[in-house]
Amino acid sequence: MTILVVMAMGAEAAPIVRSMSLSVVDDAPPPMVWFEGSGLVIAVNGIDPVHRVDSIGTTPAALSTAAALARFKPDIVISAGTAGGFVSRGGYIGQVIVANGPVIHHDRRVPLGGFEAYAQGHYPTMDLQKVTERLGFTAGPCSTGDSLDAPPLDLAAMDTHGTIAKDMEAAAVAGVAARSSIPFTAFKVITDLVDSPEPTAKQFMANLEVASATLAVALPVFLTELNG
Ligand code: SAH
Repeated sequence: MTILVVMAMGAEAAPIVRSMSLSVVDDAPPPMVWFEGSGLVIAVNGIDPVHRVDSIGTTPAALSTAAALARFKPDIVISAGTAGGFVSRGGYIGQVIVANGPVIHHDRRVPLGGFEAYAQGHYPTMDLQKVTERLGFTAGPCSTGDSLDAPPLDLAAMDTHGTIAKDMEAAAVAGVAARSSIPFTAFKVITDLVDSPEPTAKQFMANLEVASATLAVALPVFLTELNG
């Protein structure tokens, strides 16, 4: 069995690549960076060649997922990384979340018949609620948008969805996996609380390192369960 984990930021991936002693795969299409070892592939979306920052967001996530699907033919695809949580829905910094129910794009609005649901995606995720709870993680709705902030229309979509993990990639990765009928889940660690008075970017920078370390510990435990 091969599990593909797609990650947006080098800093999110570094601790787990190190702790699992994964090796670099040398034929990744630039700027993507691929690592592999013991049935696991980590695809990092890479440094944007124009702006010289991590390729966060949905477009690089979809490109990266499509390229890695073609190359590795995985049995399961996981979007892993950090996310924003919600105090009002029980969220806290360092919380480990596994997707439950469909994942949506909370920032896409196309009120034109079937295009409304298409735009939001509503891509399926694996039913992992029992495993998630057994491991002490939280199972719940995840949603994706291409902005770090959360304007009122996005917040309303997230409230309707019951989002407990707001990120910038999961629905894009899920959409590509769904096109190939490959089981998908999202695995996220909360770095910031969307409904806290503190600015999101400040919280994110303060907690990124600890969250990435948490990811490096929690993700292997989760992967072992999926393999079993
Ligand atoms: N300030 C960072 C950029 C982080 S963008 C930098 O300087 O590099 C946020 C990244 O973390 C995205 O990949 C996204 O998936 C995730 N993320 C964490 N918290 C988020 C939030 N509140 N909203 C959206 N994405 C979030």
